[in-house]
Amino acid sequence: MSSATLEQVVYIVSQDLVKYSSRLPSNPGRSLLVHSLVKAFGLLSPEYPSSRRLQVVKPKPATDDELGVYHARSYLDVILQTRTSSDLLESTELTEFGLEDDCPRFESLSEYVRLVAGATLTAANALKLNYADIAINWDGGRHHAQKYRASGFCYVADCVLAILLLRKAQPLPPLVSLNDSNIDSITAQKQRRPRVMYLDLDVHFSDGVSEAFYTPVSNVISPQVLTFSIHHAAPGFFPSSPLAQLPSVDSSPISTFDPFTLSIPLLLGASNHTYFTIWSIVERIKDIFKPDYIVIQCGVDGLAGDPKCKAFNWGLDVEEKGSLGWCISRIVDNWKGRKLFLGGGGYNSPNAARAWSYLTSIILGKPIPISTHIPDDPSHSGFPLYAPSFILDVPTGNMPDTNSAEYLEKVKRRFDVVSQVLQERVGVL
Ligand SMILES: [Zn+2]
Repeated sequence: MSSATLEQVVYIVSQDLVKYSSRLPSNPGRSLLVHSLVKAFGLLSPEYPSSRRLQVVKPKPATDDELGVYHARSYLDVILQTRTSSDLLESTELTEFGLEDDCPRFESLSEYVRLVAGATLTAANALKLNYADIAINWDGGRHHAQKYRASGFCYVADCVLAILLLRKAQPLPPLVSLNDSNIDSITAQKQRRPRVMYLDLDVHFSDGVSEAFYTPVSNVISPQVLTFSIHHAAPGFFPSSPLAQLPSVDSSPISTFDPFTLSIPLLLGASNHTYFTIWSIVERIKDIFKPDYIVIQCGVDGLAGDPKCKAFNWGLDVEEKGSLGWCISRIVDNWKGRKLFLGGGGYNSPNAARAWSYLTSIILGKPIPISTHIPDDPSHSGFPLYAPSFILDVPTGNMPDTNSAEYLEKVKRRFDVVSQVLQERVGVL
């Protein structure tokens, strides 16, 4: 393949993005570790034997107008600190805006919000404006942030902002099947609006994104966005939402079912085997919806041994069917459409750095062997943190997978109905 036909990958990073993302209270120092390890593996170098072309792009900080496309002005006034310092916030206001407990205000919150949102928007714009086929922002993926408030370590709804931007991309030619007998008349039809699929692989439900696009009415015209979250859901496990449950496919007039807002809740100990079993459902939904853009939130807190979540026993190795690496390789190699890969949760910072470095190598088409030693590079100050293994893999543990064959069969049966309804709805898009 000549270089002219190689797919273009855009990787978003800058010193400022790393500096301010590293101050996120839930993940101090993580951004620095991630980008340092990606660099130490040589993934950003033109010498890396990639089957795609990589370009490093600096993020443009998001403007007030860009943030205001989704967020409420009253919330932005507080997190962007445009209020005067004498205008101290009452504790009731902090509660109202979610700026307490797991989302405290912190030094440089304003710069952080502008840069993280700006990084995801820079990535999305590269796809929208035809500069790239694939874009990566490991500092993005803040899927709990809401229009009016911060939530779950998330201050800015970069995923929602990216979807809203991609939804307004140039109209596309109508989809034509090879079996269509009258292609001339079909191509004469007016162009269609682009479709965006959001796939969330974080262990937590993507409440901020799913709720933003949820439409519980069965006859609205042509949603362009489909959200699909695979996560753990249990009483007391954050976040609590009826949308985190399996779709309730009842067809009553007051049904809350929306075939464009989908969830698969998994039980404790979800392993590669469980993800492999449900992956055919994910691909079936994708095949029906036929997205032009896919936004993938790659939170890594479902990997084995995450110290904060301790819910799943998911693996990384691309050679293991159903692992995170395997799922990402399926998406990047086999799915049509432009892809935006974002980060998310992950509370063992060295493991998050391992995972996102490894996923970067998969996205570049040349996975680093999973047993590779962490480079002991003088510029890579985090090396001692990779003890005791000092290798790339995040191995699975002994946690039993409680997702029984019966439960997974129930999920499949439910999605048989979902697929049917979605097919009918997509047919009229
Ligand atoms: Zn999470």
